[in-house]
Parts: sequence; structure tokens; C-alpha cells
Amino acid sequence: MNTSIETIVAAPEFQSGHVWLAGAGPGHPRYLTLEVADALAKADVIVHDALVSDGVLSLAKTTDLIFVGKRGGRPSVAQDDITTKLIELAKAGKRVLRLKGGDPFVFGRGGEEAEALVKEGIPFRILPGMTSALAALAAANIPATMRGISRSITLATGHAAGTEGDLDWKALAKTGEPIVVYMGVSTIGTIARLLIEGGRSPDTPVAVLMAATTPDERSMTATLETVEAEVKRQNFAAPALIVIGRIVSMQAILSGSAQ
Ligand code: SAH
Repeated sequence: MNTSIETIVAAPEFQSGHVWLAGAGPGHPRYLTLEVADALAKADVIVHDALVSDGVLSLAKTTDLIFVGKRGGRPSVAQDDITTKLIELAKAGKRVLRLKGGDPFVFGRGGEEAEALVKEGIPFRILPGMTSALAALAAANIPATMRGISRSITLATGHAAGTEGDLDWKALAKTGEPIVVYMGVSTIGTIARLLIEGGRSPDTPVAVLMAATTPDERSMTATLETVEAEVKRQNFAAPALIVIGRIVSMQAILSGSAQ
């Protein structure tokens, strides 16, 4: 059997007036799915976030690129303005590619945007992307799950750590299972404290994986007790993922002959 990439991505067709909500993966274009790479070549207009890399955008055929992310400390474009823009462009008969970092449904607000499109009766598709946690773990030689070490993995947001209505970190601590925290660089001190109060050992290994798969990629390891100070001392900043749990200790073993 000989199947071509063209055959795989031929259907469904990207039609005028449709919006495709797609994930661009962690950064490096090699992690794009075939259908997202193809959509980049077919879209009339691309509405993208800051986490979508230049390498990915360089595959676009259109020059109509609309940036709606946060840059240089300026506040991001309001979510309502983004959905209004998508609706306007679709109603104008464009093939609209809404491109987000990672996967659109993992801390990507893809659900809200899809809901707004439903309300307007605008046809859309969701094109998954590789979420940054999975790519970053692979790049760091840390298995997301491993027999004998973990039976589940939690993807959590650290965005609102310690504020009203936040996740129950102490309950998460009790599972003993690994946690990957998105958007947690500035709140890691609070998260580590709550996890220790919930029963995790202060010696629990932690990895911080920054800008994974991009030229700015850096990583470090620490423990729950030291991670806050180390993040500051080594100037780690967003975008970064914080991996907490015994799976982190596999890194030293697997990095032996990994390329
Ligand atoms: N939808 C995205 C997540 C968006 S939230 C996804 O599925 O990956 C933004 C957060 O994602 C960042 O603050 C950071 O925690 C994480 N992130 C995205 N890309 C990353 C990368 N290349 N390296 C490390 N963290 C990344």
C-alpha cells in the first residue's frame, strides 16, 4: 500500500466561510500534524497567538496573519474581540485558520471560541495539536507515565494558584501521582508549599522545562523545596512547564544514550 500525504489531508475540504481551530504544537514545526501543516497552506487568513512560532508561520501561504496574543508585557487582546474577529472573517467568506500553541483544547480557550461560533452558526472544525507538556516531557527524556512509578498524570494550570476558587492542590498532593503545571512559573512557590502541606515530600523531584522545542529551550531540575528559589536564581520565565513527581528521576537514567 502506498498512501500519499495529499490523500490523507484531502478531506474534509477547507471551505470558504469556515473556521478551523487548530493546534500548532509546542513550537518547532516538525511537531505539526499533517492536517495543520496542510491548513497553513490553504487558509486565507491566520489568526494566531504568541506561542505559535515563526517557523510554523513561515509555512503559511497567505500573508494575512493576524496576531492576537500577548507580547512585550502588553495585555492580550480580549477574548471577546478575538471571537468577534473570527466571526467577521468567516462571514466575509474567508477560510479562517485560528492557530494556537499546543492543542486548542488544553488551556487554549478553544472551547469558548468554538461555543461562540456555534452561537453564530459558523461551521468549524477542531484540529488537535501536540500539547506542549507531552512534547516537552519527550524532549527531556521524562516518561509521562511509567509502570511502577505512576498510573496517571495530571495536567494542571498554575495560573490562579492560591487564589479563591483555585484547584485543590492538597487533594492532588494526596494522589502521589505526577503533575505537570502549565502557566506556573510565577506561582510555583505557592504550589510547592500547598503540595508539601498536602503530604508530598519536600525532596520530590521537579523539572522546569522552558520554551521546549524552540531555540530558547532550557531545562533545570530541583526539588519541591528548592524549585521556587532555583527558578528565580536561574531566571526561568514563561513559557515553561513544571513537572512534579518521581517520573522526573527517570531523566538521569534515560539521558544516558538518548540523542
Ligand atoms: N494550548 C497550549 C497551552 C497554552 S497555555 C498547549 O496545549 O500546550 C500557555 C502555557 O503553555 C505556557 O505558560 C507554558 O506553561 C505552556 N507552554 C506552551 N508552549 C510551551 C513550550 N514550548 N515549552 C514550555 N511550555 C510551554
